Amino acid sequence: PRILETKVSVSPRIFGLETEYGLVAPSDFGGGVVKAARELLRPKIDYTKSGATFLPNGGRLYLDVGAHPEYATAECIKPLDLVAQDRAGDLMLAQLLTDFATSSGTTLKLFRNNLDGAGNSFGCHENYQIAREGNFESWKDDFVSFLVTRTCLVGAGGVITDRNGTHFVPSVRAGLMTAVESASSTQDRPILNTRDQPLADRSKYRRLHVMLSDTNLGQFPTFLKVASALLVLQFLESGGSFADLRLADPIDALHIVGNDLSLQAEVELLDGRRLRAVEIQALMVSRVLSWLGGQTASEAQNHATSVLAKCGSFKKFLATFEVPELDHDSLISQLSFAAYQWLELCVILLGEDWSAISGRIDWLLKQEFFSQYSSSAQGNWEDPKVRVLDWSFHQVGGRLWPELETRGLVASLLTKDEIGKTLAQPPSDTRAYVRGRLIGVAQELKLAVNADWDRVYFGLNNEVKLDLDDPFNCSGSLVAHTKTKIEEIARAEVEGFYGV
Ligand code: ATP
Ligand code: MG
Ligand code: MG
Repeated sequence: PRILETKVSVSPRIFGLETEYGLVAPSDFGGGVVKAARELLRPKIDYTKSGATFLPNGGRLYLDVGAHPEYATAECIKPLDLVAQDRAGDLMLAQLLTDFATSSGTTLKLFRNNLDGAGNSFGCHENYQIAREGNFESWKDDFVSFLVTRTCLVGAGGVITDRNGTHFVPSVRAGLMTAVESASSTQDRPILNTRDQPLADRSKYRRLHVMLSDTNLGQFPTFLKVASALLVLQFLESGGSFADLRLADPIDALHIVGNDLSLQAEVELLDGRRLRAVEIQALMVSRVLSWLGGQTASEAQNHATSVLAKCGSFKKFLATFEVPELDHDSLISQLSFAAYQWLELCVILLGEDWSAISGRIDWLLKQEFFSQYSSSAQGNWEDPKVRVLDWSFHQVGGRLWPELETRGLVASLLTKDEIGKTLAQPPSDTRAYVRGRLIGVAQELKLAVNADWDRVYFGLNNEVKLDLDDPFNCSGSLVAHTKTKIEEIARAEVEGFYGV
């Protein structure tokens, strides 16, 4: 086997995740769950100003209408930074739950899940920066085909009740999506939200706002989800194509894939062929691997096909590579690692025995775990005990998930310490660094902050303006310079207050 020598230069791209959490309050909690959500986040959010707060680690904590706390990660460039930032949200919320229980005597439960008791779907939003001048419309359908079929690898697994009864499916959210794209996320449930909010210099950038995926439990699926998307975006932007893998009806296909535990179901392609979601994913990643190995994106299509023909199977194709190392400081290393893992998962899922990878796929792990509690291999999902256990699987600060980690049943990429650090530490290579550091300074000085992703005002009268139109701006001197200005107005405010 040869080392996967990546010969392409991958341009850095800004991306971030939003996670909506489900909250449950005791039935006798006055004001119900909506009040509970407000109270839970009160130590972090000043509701007299807004329902959101930007955090020193670059993230944003937010309470939407209703009772779903939402945590959006800082802008990241490297997938592992994203995983750490995302899980820092869990730690932050777990601490808020503990503090709330101590101060009020009430225990609230928070879930990293995708469906509430009333059947409302929430989940994970992915945000990827793309070029305004890019050829997005020309490859949009290719990307949608990638997103839809990716569900078989990154679905979080959940229980639904439909005309076939109550049963376990790879993704609850997939079954509920109603449109490929829409500017309204309240009327439709679109895969892509087309509201044009670039959160950066509008003339240069767009934000691709993906509403499709489940919130994952494992670090690995979160990593794979974003890393595979980054690879595909770069591949398509560089002239690569999945045009021959476009879906005849993406929503129809999504409902099939989201429901298919056997991975045998076929979806129809635009050209009338029928393929399984894993086969489509395997074809996509093979092309991506050929391109990473030095083919131009448009050559990669033919190259992957001829290599595959020579190897005879995806498995033999995979065996031509050594397992890449995972370097926490290198974007290209993380993407190569992800591409290799992505193909490996497909290869194993195309075979019979999936046990080696259940620690890397949320829905497989969950299915395996719950099948122990039932005589039927699929699990008895109507059993109330199983339902309770299902909740504990997703519980933030719960005991079940850490135990699975300790027992080595889930593949983790980061240690607790690495995640803990990101509670206070923004990624160093995006504007989140500048924003986060300065918000940290302002908080210490008890100075008013009025923030958005791309600009921040400091001081009661917005005296200091920080312009972050460029999401790659991580300038240390901008931090130092603005910090001096912030300290000056803080001093002036104190002096004004005491009439000095
Ligand atoms: P809301 O939840 O209020 O409807 P939203 O979903 O549009 O708003 P946020 O919840 O604020 O947006 O989350 C924005 C996400 O986009 C964050 O995860 C952030 O990291 C990411 N992001 C920030 N800037 C950019 C950018 N320039 N390009 C792509 N993603 C970005
Ligand atoms: Mg949001
Ligand atoms: Mg969103």
